[in-house]
Amino acid sequence: AQLHFRAGGALAAMRGKSRLIKAVDGVSFDICRGESVGLLGESGCGKTSMGRMLLKLEEATGGAVTFDGADLNTLRGEALRAFRTRAQLIFQNPFDAVNPRFTIRATLAEPLENAGVPPAEREQRIIAALELVRLPNPAEFLDRHPHQLSGGQLQRVVMARALILQPDFVVADEPVSMLDVSVRAGVLNVFRDVRDRLNLTAIYISHDLALVRYVCERTIVMYLGRIMEDGPTEDIVREPLHPYTRALVAAVPVPHPDQDHAPLPIGRGAPDPLNPPSGCVFRDRCPKAHARCAAEIPVPRQVGTRRVACHLYDEAGAAAPGKTA
Ligand code: SF4
Repeated sequence: AQLHFRAGGALAAMRGKSRLIKAVDGVSFDICRGESVGLLGESGCGKTSMGRMLLKLEEATGGAVTFDGADLNTLRGEALRAFRTRAQLIFQNPFDAVNPRFTIRATLAEPLENAGVPPAEREQRIIAALELVRLPNPAEFLDRHPHQLSGGQLQRVVMARALILQPDFVVADEPVSMLDVSVRAGVLNVFRDVRDRLNLTAIYISHDLALVRYVCERTIVMYLGRIMEDGPTEDIVREPLHPYTRALVAAVPVPHPDQDHAPLPIGRGAPDPLNPPSGCVFRDRCPKAHARCAAEIPVPRQVGTRRVACHLYDEAGAAAPGKTA
């Protein structure tokens, strides 16, 4: 595996109004080089915090993140700078991701300058990066400012900036959620194409199962800071095992990147993260909840191609997909 993530205890605690919230808790997974993984869940489920920890943009209070064998907590100086070059974030809102006073040329030149790329090479690298993300006639954009671009054009610029130093690991945090529906598919196609051409290891954070299905071969479903289900995306969509995943799949009957959401068939939203339920964090919305669910936190278990954290799958050998409640 290229990336190993383990969060026990109070890892990734965020400060709430007056107490610490465990943004991610009891979470562990590996990601192989070139793998494309969707982090799926509702707002506040911890997926963005986890993405930021994978990039060492947010401090963990326990556990470990290991990238190519190196513990991110121990990286300092040159090793940290090298990691920052290899691992990049694509932001959710392209207009928040750039300096509005910078031209597109200056926006893309900044990481090259920070990495010590000689000025004579920069223009060529900038044009190549804009061509990579299929911005038509890139030279025409260089002297423009962000407000002179559409959201879709600017998100391609943001992608170009993330890719200009040729990283091998990218975290994309809801990269099309702020864009008009009509341009989402184009930006997603660019993301998929670039990922494949550069053999990127990619984490795609989204609340939208249809988008994750379009982009990622593997999906990790999160709820209130914990992993509910982890496995091949197509298996999860065709036969979701965890009750929460079933609700997510039922809300998107015909997944497609342009489709709007149906409501989740599990009623009200997630509970207050400051006051999570005992036992299984999903239990107060779960139609299959039973006495044990209040008393014990379910441990993720291998069930066929998936890892599932639910007491319905706790029997020896775990129930085979298709034969569960
Ligand atoms: Fe539902 Fe219990 Fe499974 Fe949690 S452990 S998802 S409450 S059945």
